[in-house]
Amino acid sequence: MTFTTRFAPSPTGPLHLGHAYSALCAYEMARAANGAFLLRIEDTDTSRARLAWEAQIYDDLAWLGLSWPTPVLRQSDHLERYNRDLMALADRGFIYPCSCSRSDIRAALSAPQEGVSAPAVYPGTCRGRPMSSRQAGDALRLDMARALDALHADIAFTETGSEHAGTHNIDAATLLAQTGDAVLGRKEIETVSYALAAVIDDAALHITHVVRGADLFDTTPLQVVLQGLLNLSTPTYHHHRLIRDEAGKRLAKRDDARAIATYRAEGVTLTELRQRVGL
Ligand code: GLU
Repeated sequence: MTFTTRFAPSPTGPLHLGHAYSALCAYEMARAANGAFLLRIEDTDTSRARLAWEAQIYDDLAWLGLSWPTPVLRQSDHLERYNRDLMALADRGFIYPCSCSRSDIRAALSAPQEGVSAPAVYPGTCRGRPMSSRQAGDALRLDMARALDALHADIAFTETGSEHAGTHNIDAATLLAQTGDAVLGRKEIETVSYALAAVIDDAALHITHVVRGADLFDTTPLQVVLQGLLNLSTPTYHHHRLIRDEAGKRLAKRDDARAIATYRAEGVTLTELRQRVGL
């Protein structure tokens, strides 16, 4: 199978040095393997995605010297598809509606063990609620224990990034303790979570290698579970090092000072920018 990878930015702010590094890594891995590099716009969060940021993504990536096949897959054009897959999972009993607010969840988590730092996972308050009880404003959650039961076969993924290289078997106990009943359908009707849309599109685009930042390593087990449930093949994952600021903090979208556009406006050359990210 031809090596196929993608860069999948969300158009919710300017691309920064970390994105430049990620896109260049994916592009150069594809080129070295004589494979394909695709661009995908992850704009399912319609409240934050902006066309102006999308236009700037195309501009910045072209300036970095990258090219990609068009038309580009824009996730906002495929919301129906994601919802169909989500409803199919619901029909199989893996999804339940959840009306808990953030503060409900905090309260449920801290109640039994006052003072002990609570795990970040959802405590399962709404687990078992039938889909027929879904109300406007309810999120949809994956019943992780049921999902893991159904997948009894061992599930695993291969990682080639140097930090975690090797085969990772999905350990049910860890997944229940660290990910739990993840939200797959957001409160806003017709909008699905990033993890679900990403696995559906990685399969639709025949992605063989997912190249992305190490900050997404921990979301991979959930994505592999979703691939198992949806009967999609699991690509190889490559999580690369993160680009950090002088204080060692991971760059965020709001770090405008490190936006590719800012460097461009200052007259920084591509060679200089590549040096800044260690290429
Ligand atoms: N859209 C995600 C982001 O901008 C990337 C997701 C992925 O590469 O799987 O962080």
